[in-house]
Amino acid sequence: MIDTSLKTYGEDVFSEREIRQYLPKTTAAKLIATMRDGKSMDPSIADAVAHGMKEWALAKGATHFTHWFQPMTGGTAEKHDSFLEPTGLAQAMYKFSGKNLIGGEADASSFPSGGLRSTFEARGYTAWDPTSPAFIKRHENGATLCIPTAFCAYTGAALDMKTPLLRSIQAVKRAVERLMNKFGSHGKHIDITLGAEQEYFLIDRAFYLKRPDLLQTGRTVFGAAPAKHQQLDDHYYGSIRPRILKFMSEAEDALWRLGVPAKTRHNEVAPAQFELAPMFEDINLAVDHNMLIMEVLRLTAEANGLVCLLHEKPFEGVNGSGKHCNWSIAYGGRNLLSPGDNPRDNAIFLTFLSAVIRAVDLHADLLRMSVASAGNDHRLGAHEAPPAIISIFLGDELSAVMKEIETGKTAKKTGRTAMKIGVDTLPPIPRDATDRNRTSPFAFTGNKFEFRAPGSSQNCAASQMVLNTIVAESIDAICDKLDALGGDFNEELQKLLQRLIRKHKRVLFSGDGYAADWQKEAAERGLPNLKDTPAAIEPLDNPANRALFAKYGVLDENEIISRREIAAEGYANRIRIEGRVALEIARSMVRPVVADEFSRLATAIGQARKDGLKAGLRGLGALSQKLGAGLDDLHVKCERLEKAIDSTPGKTIAAMEDLRRTVDRLELLVDDHRWPLPKYRQMLFIY
Ligand code: ADP
Ligand code: MG
Repeated sequence: MIDTSLKTYGEDVFSEREIRQYLPKTTAAKLIATMRDGKSMDPSIADAVAHGMKEWALAKGATHFTHWFQPMTGGTAEKHDSFLEPTGLAQAMYKFSGKNLIGGEADASSFPSGGLRSTFEARGYTAWDPTSPAFIKRHENGATLCIPTAFCAYTGAALDMKTPLLRSIQAVKRAVERLMNKFGSHGKHIDITLGAEQEYFLIDRAFYLKRPDLLQTGRTVFGAAPAKHQQLDDHYYGSIRPRILKFMSEAEDALWRLGVPAKTRHNEVAPAQFELAPMFEDINLAVDHNMLIMEVLRLTAEANGLVCLLHEKPFEGVNGSGKHCNWSIAYGGRNLLSPGDNPRDNAIFLTFLSAVIRAVDLHADLLRMSVASAGNDHRLGAHEAPPAIISIFLGDELSAVMKEIETGKTAKKTGRTAMKIGVDTLPPIPRDATDRNRTSPFAFTGNKFEFRAPGSSQNCAASQMVLNTIVAESIDAICDKLDALGGDFNEELQKLLQRLIRKHKRVLFSGDGYAADWQKEAAERGLPNLKDTPAAIEPLDNPANRALFAKYGVLDENEIISRREIAAEGYANRIRIEGRVALEIARSMVRPVVADEFSRLATAIGQARKDGLKAGLRGLGALSQKLGAGLDDLHVKCERLEKAIDSTPGKTIAAMEDLRRTVDRLELLVDDHRWPLPKYRQMLFIY
């Protein structure tokens, strides 16, 4: 039953309310201080915390606990242990110790480690992350206590997505504090905030089960474009169909119980495409919550006879799915990326804004790297938003302000004198709720930056870890410069920002990111355009990039090497799987149908000739010509794909695309009833 009273909001989370209820007072206070302020945890409280957590979990019907972590597969992992402890013959009780809570040793030898761990010493270790609250996952017959953890090797090397994220959060917070000190602020609470919008497709499960490509790869490797898809823009923000609304409300109910602040829901651009956006939160929690959002969407779809497709491009020819990551910094509760209404706040805003611009310009390659995957290659650099070139959109008002600072002159008609940092207030900059430029991969949207390149299936920890690190570096560079300067602070800052803008303005772009001209112009500006995953992961070989991650303690050299290896291997594996699936479908599902139809035609033609019939022969002849040619074509292209699969991913992709053109043509020739795969016009419209 769906609860709309909010009484169940967060009921499955061991949050402050539960902590106060189940833990002794001083223990509760210590744990809450760690959760709120990231203060390092007093290990002596572990047993008491574990006891209280267990009591709470048992009251919720849990029998097991798990260290819940995010290995480099992109998903989440869990291995359940029961609380059971035998106390004698045929006697047992439930137990859970501080040791069980704090750390775990998982024989997790099969997770990708990129050589960081050899299988003979396969142990991986999980370590409790007290800043993200434990929660309960329910199932039909009970529940499991899930403890968010980091996952690392015996040596301490990170084997997961969370560890480097946590390190990067520390790095950027340190830098933010350093810069805020220059503005006379000290020691306030810093929050790096993330709101990750999640796009997804839903299709009827019956169709899904008949598509081996969807089952095995998450995307359709074949499928002719339907006459109508998204041309009429009639799905976007359209009224939500009852079956989908039922699904959405059930998913939200499950998320609200988990304390995930699911906030908006709507139909997206492509048919059968939807979006869920939560309220933004502390970045570490928001990342965990996004992982839960993806899981809840999948499970709720299943319970509704639907399938949730999180792949970046399940269907060719219509929009793919992204995960827009909205990012900002709050200092003492004030959003530093919110334009101020007094000179000092303005100066702070413009300085942080410039720091981000500098970071994105200098490290566009790393941002691009952070979103590289076989699935996302179908969006970035392919035929849709955003392009693989990383640029920043600021909007007209802010662009004008930046121009004023850069040139020291005001635009003609404003009637103002040029912005003086620390003296003037900013002209009002409208916070717009709409995407004014949907083609920009990195857009300033009034009080936050929206990174639109991350793919719908990706763990946002990867891109956010990079963003935090490069911004930390950029803020530090600004602080270093300010340290070295004497003179009036505001004047020096003005000159510094002027230099920064001059140097990094090439990354600012307000035009159409889809346009062919932009590719040319971006090349002239010297902006990287890394078109596919193999190109996009190369920046990890760059010594300067390695030094950057090492300097900020986010990833050391070995961790980077391992991540590069995992990315390359994962990519090659995925393409190989797609190639094999395409080959199997083409040979064992499509070819028999085409051959059968061809032979029936041949028989009919022979019979008609024998009987001396004239009418119909031309039609039959033409069709059999087309089918025959298609059949030959199919044969040749299958052979080619088979060879390509054993060579390189690039050749496999080209051969797959080539085969697809043939199969998609045949789809429109063969008897509709016999076509072995559900079609786009069915999957995208019947639900
Ligand atoms: P839009 O849908 O036009 O992009 P929204 O205001 O709905 O704009 O924002 C989208 C996402 O951005 C939501 O998840 C929202 O919570 C998040 N967001 C808003 N403010 C911030 C912020 N200061 N830091 C991080 N994310 C934010
Ligand atoms: Mg948005």
